[in-house]
Amino acid sequence: MKIAFLGLGHMGLPMALSLSGAGHEVSGFDVSAASLDAAAQSGLAIAASGVAAARDAEVVITMFQTGRQVLDAYTGAGGGGGLLEAAAPGTLFLDCSTIAVDEAQAAHELATTAGHRMLDAPVSGGVVGAENATLAFMVGGSEVDFEAARPLLEAMGRRVVHCGGPGLGQAAKMCNNMILAVSQIVVAEAFVLGERLGLSHQALFDVASNASGQCWALTTNCPVPGPVPTSPANNDYRPGFSGALMAKDLGLAEQAVGLTGVEARMGMLAREIYREFAEGDGSRQDFSGIINTIRAESAGGDERTA
Ligand code: NAD
Repeated sequence: MKIAFLGLGHMGLPMALSLSGAGHEVSGFDVSAASLDAAAQSGLAIAASGVAAARDAEVVITMFQTGRQVLDAYTGAGGGGGLLEAAAPGTLFLDCSTIAVDEAQAAHELATTAGHRMLDAPVSGGVVGAENATLAFMVGGSEVDFEAARPLLEAMGRRVVHCGGPGLGQAAKMCNNMILAVSQIVVAEAFVLGERLGLSHQALFDVASNASGQCWALTTNCPVPGPVPTSPANNDYRPGFSGALMAKDLGLAEQAVGLTGVEARMGMLAREIYREFAEGDGSRQDFSGIINTIRAESAGGDERTA
């Protein structure tokens, strides 16, 4: 298929390369000169602009940072012409950025009003997942459009789930990350509490990973070095899913909680904790590095007894 891939950053470039590697005709563009250079060096075909790429495409994929960027690019409010106007009628728009549910719904509305098709398809799996084409896609939009996009999503990822109508891919992503944030914090609290009580990391891991405390934050992203050799804790919390990105996703959850009036005390506490973390070490570290904040803020500071 002829694909315009816009937004060639940490995630977008490897995703675009997976599509061209699968035999699609991909034309990429990014507003950042550095990203364009990196893309050109990797062998990706580069368009003169986003609008030029969209004009010739059957599918337009966006992988930007924010919902504002997506909406501005669709309408042209950011300058340089709008993608929706440039694309041929019936073009399939696929937004893989992580944005708010109401922004995704606004994007759907704009795209369908302009005579196009649209899916929100945020991802999890990070840069490693993008590079290895093992991302998970959570997709919102019609069943027919989902089936049309499936081969492309499967070329970039391993798990593809249709979550429902417009915006529900973003809803699933945000709900999942709220669970993850809370569980990562409480796993870290448990390890620090265990340290203070004289319990070794390995003993706590051996018990909890085989008991009802078992969860991804413990068994894959274990916040202490040792029990899971591949977790970011073994490498000074790098690389991984940064505290800053977790704070961003929790900000989107906060927005949805505000709109729906849901009583989400744990999720909103996690939002506060990661907001502070993102302003310090969390801007660079994996979000499991929150354990160092918990340890430092506990009585007696950084002291470890286990
Ligand atoms: P990034 O900042 O590396 O890349 C975004 C790119 O979009 C930038 O290069 C930027 O210049 C470009 N861009 C912005 N507006 C544009 C426009 N109008 N036209 C063309 N290019 C434009 O961000 P990233 O880490 O690749 O993340 C992208 C999205 O994926 C974000 O929404 C993020 O929350 C989400 N995400 C990231 C990760 C991760 O581990 N990095 C994991 C899951 C989801």
